[in-house]
Amino acid sequence: MLEKYYPYEYVPSVFAIDYEKLYAQGIRGLIFDLDNTLVHHGDPSTPEVDGLFARLHQLGFQTLILSDNSEERILDFLKNIDSPYVAEAGKPDPAACRKSLEMLNLKADQAVVIGDQIFKDIVCANGAGIPSILVHYITVPGQKIGKTRYVEAALLKLFQNGRYDHRLGHIRLKKGEQA
Ligand SMILES: [Mg+2]
Repeated sequence: MLEKYYPYEYVPSVFAIDYEKLYAQGIRGLIFDLDNTLVHHGDPSTPEVDGLFARLHQLGFQTLILSDNSEERILDFLKNIDSPYVAEAGKPDPAACRKSLEMLNLKADQAVVIGDQIFKDIVCANGAGIPSILVHYITVPGQKIGKTRYVEAALLKLFQNGRYDHRLGHIRLKKGEQA
């Protein structure tokens, strides 16, 4: 009943994912949410994030930015990154995730959705049958946490006690191994 809210894995950040292991499992497409997943909401990219995308492309992955934000905001973020994107995506409608798969010309089990919001990113991925990785949302000091985050935390507790965790086979990197 709650399965539609469960990611396949939960990690502290996009830098704590073992992308080599995902590639070895046949994953070829990485569908990233933008705001609070890659950078704080509205921020431009960073050298670390630019470097991560360069490395992912070198490994052989296709990437796609799937965001409910505007095209203008996405293009501002993509200044140093060469990636297709879907703007004003309408998550959690699974159509947004299916459209991403079509653009990448991949099947659902060849891609992973990576995002910070259960009720947007994870529900969209599950609706389209795509594996997903929830990353801990990026915050800035002093930021007020919305009540949805407390609901997410409760769901995560249930998820982490169950058989739904680690469905991608422990792709969470430990500190010190991070990308
Ligand atoms: Mg987000």
